[in-house]
Amino acid sequence: MLLTITTSMDQATDLGFLLHKHPDRVQRFEQSFGTAHVFYPDAGERHCTAALLLDVDPVKLVRTRGRGTPDFSLGQYVNDRPYAASSLLASAMANVFRTAMRGRCDPRPELAETPIPLEIVLPALPCRGGARQAERYFEPLGWDVSAVPVPLDPEFGEWGDSRYVTLTLTGTLRLADALNQLYVLLPVLDDAKHYWLAPDEVDKLIRSGEGWLAAHPDRNTITRRYLANRRGLVRTALGRLADAEDAPEEALDPAEVEEEPAAEETEEKSVPLAEQRMQAVVQALHDENARRVIDLGCGSGKLLSLLAKDAFFSEVSGTDVSHRALSHAWRRLRWDKQPRRENDRVQDVFQGALTYADERFRGYEAAVLMEVVEHVDPPRLAAVERVVFGDASPRVVVVTTPNAEHNVRYEGLAPGAMRHPDHRFEWTRAEFRAWADRVASAHGFRVRYVPVGADDPEVGAPTQMGVFSR
Ligand code: SAH
Repeated sequence: MLLTITTSMDQATDLGFLLHKHPDRVQRFEQSFGTAHVFYPDAGERHCTAALLLDVDPVKLVRTRGRGTPDFSLGQYVNDRPYAASSLLASAMANVFRTAMRGRCDPRPELAETPIPLEIVLPALPCRGGARQAERYFEPLGWDVSAVPVPLDPEFGEWGDSRYVTLTLTGTLRLADALNQLYVLLPVLDDAKHYWLAPDEVDKLIRSGEGWLAAHPDRNTITRRYLANRRGLVRTALGRLADAEDAPEEALDPAEVEEEPAAEETEEKSVPLAEQRMQAVVQALHDENARRVIDLGCGSGKLLSLLAKDAFFSEVSGTDVSHRALSHAWRRLRWDKQPRRENDRVQDVFQGALTYADERFRGYEAAVLMEVVEHVDPPRLAAVERVVFGDASPRVVVVTTPNAEHNVRYEGLAPGAMRHPDHRFEWTRAEFRAWADRVASAHGFRVRYVPVGADDPEVGAPTQMGVFSR
């Protein structure tokens, strides 16, 4: 089976840097189920094509069944696996292009961040539900999709089409996003429900889905199919997606997971955790009578837009280090539109780093650090403490962070694993209190603790909140 990736960007052979595979070489990578080859049929300055050819060995596939082979249950010698772009190709891609999929490119870091013109071709993609399915999943991601059914036998037109399509995707995207989308959507389109689910499959889905899956109109179906309909895993994954930074405003509801919920599972529709967390922060600000607020690490601006709609608040600002996150925030707040109807409370939404003292952080009654501290490298946390509690010095600081003890309640989260790939740590309740008590006494605050989300008698609530005041 074959996958080709073509770009027509300037200096097109830089594709080799992005993929970490030199255009002049033919390389092979042994897989447990065959051999993957990477080569460049075309490597010019204006046009460059990389090919991943996967040679599946049906005998190896049978021998390795159940041991790390994605398609173990297809343990027969005769099947479509050698020819069809399925989870085996996805798995080989993840192995061969691992660094590219993480979006890392040390010699050209800016290129890895930049959308580039791409054409991706898969000659034989199994597409359950027909060619429309490929359009349905790829178009919302910004691709032009051509999915042409492959006839069962071109000699016998009356036999009709097979369930395979020749897929051509054309668009301008970051290469890492394109690869991650393929990685998730190939097995989803195949929907063979037989591929092997590794214990960290939810983590892989969240990692590969970063930046696109939470906002995809078919995220629930994608998640369900990717996780082969395993209810517990699907629920965990949708819960974590709803919590993701790029989740859309209308929060994802893990209760929607089942198409037909089993009779005994008449779970109440729950308010997503991200929503409960924002409500808890707003409540704390009301309780502390803090009307001028700055959201530090505001991400895509969900809390900002909530504060902007609440007449209690008189002045609201936000800052984040990530330009990508801020561009979502500006769009959400319609920052460029005049007049800004509900937004006259919004003072400023600007790029800033919490590790450096900045006069723009000063002059507010309250600062919010909602799900931010766990994204800061531990050696830099002291700088953030000094900047926020010392230099900016508001009267109130509200901090929320995951409660690591609660992670055992998430099915599919490997023991010791964290909820998000960008988290640098996750604290237990005792660890959070030790940190918060120390910071409070160093800077003259009192701190009270509020659990957010269902407070489990054994492991506590999923989110912990500290409200600092003086
Ligand atoms: N507060 C938002 C976003 C949480 S994600 C919410 O709860 O939805 C964490 C955010 O912190 C990211 O947007 C990240 O870019 C930002 N961040 C991490 N380190 C930062 C730093 N040193 N300075 C400013 N922002 C930072």
